[in-house]
Amino acid sequence: MKKIYCPKCGIDVEYHIEKNTIREYKGVKLNVIENIAVCDECSEHIFEKDIEEDNLKRLYKEYKIKAGLITPEEIVTMREKHNLSQRELTAILGWGKMTLNRYERGSVQNKAHNETLKLIIEDEDYLARLAELTYDRGEIEERTYSKVRKDYVSIERELKDIIVKELLSKPSINNGFKCFDIDKLENVISYIASKVNNLTKTSVNKYLSFIDFANFCENQNSITGLSYVKSTYGPTIIGKKYELIISLDEKYYTTEEERDDYTKVTIHSKNNFDMSSFKPQEMEVIDTVIEKLKNLSVGKISKMSHEEDGWKSTGMNKVISYEYAENLKLLNKN
Ligand SMILES: [Zn+2]
Repeated sequence: MKKIYCPKCGIDVEYHIEKNTIREYKGVKLNVIENIAVCDECSEHIFEKDIEEDNLKRLYKEYKIKAGLITPEEIVTMREKHNLSQRELTAILGWGKMTLNRYERGSVQNKAHNETLKLIIEDEDYLARLAELTYDRGEIEERTYSKVRKDYVSIERELKDIIVKELLSKPSINNGFKCFDIDKLENVISYIASKVNNLTKTSVNKYLSFIDFANFCENQNSITGLSYVKSTYGPTIIGKKYELIISLDEKYYTTEEERDDYTKVTIHSKNNFDMSSFKPQEMEVIDTVIEKLKNLSVGKISKMSHEEDGWKSTGMNKVISYEYAENLKLLNKN
């Protein structure tokens, strides 16, 4: 065995290894054997860099597993999956230059960093959002953003496919004689959210149903091709599909606020709507409905929807036929 320097003896000495068991680290119970170099001449413990690094590596590894922390292997796997370099992921996370490098080599991450790592490993959408934020601030290059965004778009695509599959039906009086059009729906929600300060999960259902029914009244078909059912607070998108629809996030995003007995979900526009596929007469209907509703509370809008024939004449949870659009009271009011 090679000799190492013993500070006490003042010379290079022969040494042997003694074992010690570490049973606890940072309050977590473990069972890690640590190797200690001992001087053959004076029996003092000698600090030896390679042995010590190996001890720490094994200690941290077991600690991370026992404490439920993200392991270096998990970080590297996630990074390689997206083909991101350490430098690129560091930039997305906004961490210190060497932080990620240290974690990947085994250092124990702090709690906040561990939560962030957990989120980006478990939720690709979260990673994509982080990347979008840093990209918007000019802190990462488009090439880096596109690596993450690729997955992001495909999740969005998948979600859209599910929504379309569940909502597409043959043109009939129940959908305003129009095939469900998810692109128009997305754009019109983004457009409404850009004009209305307080567009909530509840009120977006009312805006959309009033717009579709008003367009049916004026132009003989709906705009989105959605069917609406009678619910307690007014017409809502059939099958509660508004939950999925508002979770799309290319053109709008939602924020949540905890209230006493419910979570208030507000929809915000990303202001990237494209209304070029809407006919001028459709835009006129959309703008008219927004003008009539935008200064009213959600409660008031809900109440107005209860005055419509469609809501009054339809059974609870049943589809409201567009035939009732003919006498839409909203359009008579000034
Ligand atoms: Zn010695």
